[in-house]
Amino acid sequence: MKKTVLTGIRPTGNLHIGHYFGASKRWVMYQDEYNCYFEIADVQALTDNFDNPEKVRKNVYELAIDLLSIGIDPKKSTIFLQSAIPEIAELTVYYSNLVTMARLYRNPTVKTEIAQKKALFGNEGESVTYGFVGYPVSQAADITAFMGEAVPVGEDQLPLVEQCREIVRKFNSIYGKTLIEPEAVLGKNPRIKGLDGNEKMGKSLGNAIYLNDSPSVIHDKVMGAITDPKKIRKDDPADPNKCMVYYYHKLFSGDEVETVCKECKNGERGCVFCKKQLIENICKYLEPIREKREYYLQHMDEVQKILEEGSKKAREKASITLKNVKKAMKINYFDE
Ligand code: ATP
Ligand code: MG
Repeated sequence: MKKTVLTGIRPTGNLHIGHYFGASKRWVMYQDEYNCYFEIADVQALTDNFDNPEKVRKNVYELAIDLLSIGIDPKKSTIFLQSAIPEIAELTVYYSNLVTMARLYRNPTVKTEIAQKKALFGNEGESVTYGFVGYPVSQAADITAFMGEAVPVGEDQLPLVEQCREIVRKFNSIYGKTLIEPEAVLGKNPRIKGLDGNEKMGKSLGNAIYLNDSPSVIHDKVMGAITDPKKIRKDDPADPNKCMVYYYHKLFSGDEVETVCKECKNGERGCVFCKKQLIENICKYLEPIREKREYYLQHMDEVQKILEEGSKKAREKASITLKNVKKAMKINYFDE
């Protein structure tokens, strides 16, 4: 039996290179080896975008196109919409009794996200909703609904998978062994930094290079990236490890990286030249993805069908889990 992989992404914007190198490049590779479910987490996106449903709806389609463009193949994997699986919402209700408010507030990812909201929106950012604080519970429902065993994610998701494991253990200890404890799987780039040098490139942080950015947008973003502040003149030696341009060269520039590093340290390359080389490499790398994106933009009916069929298939699987959960909780009054 193939292992089941479940992972998700919030439709709050397009895929960026942080997602790609941190998580979704591996999702493409896993498709041959595992039974993969990819969730577009629109219900979770609404937790902090409840007042902007148009944004979430638009990004559901944008993300579906992004996922197909990087090589997620609906013939091999299931791409589905969270809101189309009411079983997930029902599981969330049952699991919510197994988590304390204190534990949710202590979740490091939730804590960081609340702090970021506060930094972006002032005190208003602090007034988080019940739904937002509880999203780790609904994420536990996402994973367990599909009996996910492996969850390929970026580093920021580790505390959320850990919280899911706790819920599973508690459920199994109270109601009997029903659920599977999932494991987070990290890749070799578990946390990609933002253009501004922030520890995380994130959709909500405005510091990302998106896979669908045009060459001119990529040009402007890279030109504005942070370099070693001590390097003033073109031939000043610099520390590549203090430079975001070098950081991204490591992702996009293959064998050229060693030369970039050496020349930078020796003061043998100017930043403008170095940035232009990076821009060219990023654009070359993203070109095939952009071409596939164009295809899907012209074939939206195909995208709609993929989401609809994937959601139907996902729902069948989730309903089996829900049935088992209700039986374990002794609330299966009308089941045979
Ligand atoms: P939002 O700001 O709306 O939360 P996000 O950019 O954090 O958006 P998510 O949809 O929350 O994106 O994350 C999707 C997946 O991508 C998760 O597995 C997450 O760990 C991974 N990921 C997101 N940003 C990065 C990053 N900078 N480095 C590595 N992995 C990342
Ligand atoms: Mg996130």
